[in-house]
Amino acid sequence: MSNGSLILIPTPIGNLEDITLRAVRMLREVDAVVAEDTRVSGRLLQHLGVSKPLISFHTNNEHRMVSGLVQRLCDGQRLALVSDAGTPGISDPGFLLVRAAIAAGIPVECLPGPTAFVPALVVSGLPCERFVYEGFLPQKKGRRTRIEALKDEARTMVIYESPHRMVRLLGELIETLGADRPASASRELSKLHEETRRGTLGELLAHFTTHEPRGEFVVVVGGKDE
Ligand code: SAM
Repeated sequence: MSNGSLILIPTPIGNLEDITLRAVRMLREVDAVVAEDTRVSGRLLQHLGVSKPLISFHTNNEHRMVSGLVQRLCDGQRLALVSDAGTPGISDPGFLLVRAAIAAGIPVECLPGPTAFVPALVVSGLPCERFVYEGFLPQKKGRRTRIEALKDEARTMVIYESPHRMVRLLGELIETLGADRPASASRELSKLHEETRRGTLGELLAHFTTHEPRGEFVVVVGGKDE
């Protein structure tokens, strides 16, 4: 009987103080840390005073890495999975390994911790009792279809976007949802220059057309009839 387990460990999205005490303890206890970018996670571990073997696991190798990692888990190893920032599996690698570990009968746990969409949603001022997480929209094929599918969405919508596509995204949302839809754009969450801008989609577009978007964004859009 294996005592292996997989523990997903959220890491800070900016402020290093956001790592939890339990996350640090778990990082100390596991046999190895499976990391999206071993340099990024290596620096975090060093900052925390934790020394562990790091295993690289990212979008370009995750398919071929999964079976070897599941074998380690079946052999009794305890593995932590971390991404560069936030919660693994949330617009980051994680799902494939979680699914394979569950199928192999390995206990899987995800610690509560940092993620960008929760603070962005809560500070948006838009209803957060029901929401949909859209993550990144496809960059090319399927982008328009995804936005069209949001046209009649009544729940608050959460979208991740990079700075150089912000103006394009707001324009596309306006085309389908209209310029009057309430929305917010949060950047640099948990960092020194954290900022949330609230207004209609039209007002946000006007702002970001004249003020170059900087930093990674979470865009929150009110549902239909909000
Ligand atoms: N796993 C992460 C999480 O749990 O939120 C998400 C990783 S995804 C590759 C990166 C995206 O998350 C960014 O493009 C941005 O949309 C959002 N994000 C991450 N950190 C952020 C921050 N400090 N402020 C605003 N958005 C952030």
